[in-house]
Amino acid sequence: MRYAQVVFDNVAFARGYKPGWGFAAVIRGYSKTVLFDTGSVGDTLLSNMLTLNVSPSEIDAVFISHTHDDHIGGLHAFLRANHRVEVFLPEDVAIGTVVAIDEAGALPTVLVSEGEILPGIGTTGTLGKRPSEQGLVLAGNGAATLITGCAHPGVGKLITAARESLGLPVKLVIGGMHLGQSSRRKILALSRTLKDLGVEQVAPSHCTGETGIQILSESFGNGFIDSGLGRRIQLV
Ligand SMILES: [Zn+2]
Ligand SMILES: [Zn+2]
Repeated sequence: MRYAQVVFDNVAFARGYKPGWGFAAVIRGYSKTVLFDTGSVGDTLLSNMLTLNVSPSEIDAVFISHTHDDHIGGLHAFLRANHRVEVFLPEDVAIGTVVAIDEAGALPTVLVSEGEILPGIGTTGTLGKRPSEQGLVLAGNGAATLITGCAHPGVGKLITAARESLGLPVKLVIGGMHLGQSSRRKILALSRTLKDLGVEQVAPSHCTGETGIQILSESFGNGFIDSGLGRRIQLV
């Protein structure tokens, strides 16, 4: 079974985990196991992974959506637990970060354009500026899942790039959608855009905000997946 499990989030789903500001998820069911982002605090990330029975040594690759601390802050603690990984980074990553990853014994790879990076797994390519951000694209049966960190470039733009990445329509979007400051009208417009782009399911958390989550839940109905720390989400 292919799934994403949320291992770091400020939004709670299940009891027994340590919440923290940020987002991270483990992707399982492909030939390589991927950690998407690392949350803000390494100890919290590692503690939640332990609770969820995910050993750091199982992770083959780390994918960093963007360089805000709540997504990359836990990276160095993770690399101390397992440095035998490739770390996929967005275009505007600081050179000091690339050097530190290399010195930790891991393999840094900066991604610019969209396409496949591991079997069945792709990037949207780096979009936007300050911060630039990339989304993770996961191939399924004739469709794909997109995972976003904060979706700073806009969820719509990330979905369009995700479709180009693996040539599959995006049916499920998981992650932060950065709607904390957005008006109801803007959130409703986004929800219509998502549906126009063919999205059938959403699993928002992190920086989506309570209003954003509530409106997406109302407008997607059965296609809304209640997400948050500890949640395991089946991929399309
Ligand atoms: Zn951010
Ligand atoms: Zn964030």
